[in-house]
Amino acid sequence: MHELSVAESVVEIIQQYVPRTDLNRVRCVRMKIGEFGGVVTDSLTFCFQAITAQTDLSKASLEIEHIPFAVRCQECGQESRPEFGTVVCEHCGALRTTVISGNELQVVDINLDDSLAEAT
Ligand SMILES: [Zn+2]
Repeated sequence: MHELSVAESVVEIIQQYVPRTDLNRVRCVRMKIGEFGGVVTDSLTFCFQAITAQTDLSKASLEIEHIPFAVRCQECGQESRPEFGTVVCEHCGALRTTVISGNELQVVDINLDDSLAEAT
């Protein structure tokens, strides 16, 4: 199950950036996911909630921004967004294209709840 391993790596990334004592303050985790990766958003959210439910990250939720698949043509230089799974330039029909977006899988922002800090 692809989404489960993605969810696990998201948790690892959060643990890398957020000190262990602050993990229970993590609320919103913003991500960019390229559609070329084939990750199903609902499924990823479900897996993330499932593996964090009994942990300090139980209040964290994912906010996912989708990056559309796009290629640049090496023949005519124009960008196109071909149908998923193909890399044909939609301007000149060339097959020599380079994927320029759609491979993203990154955490862009981790939002912490500050209200707990004021209690000290
Ligand atoms: Zn072209």
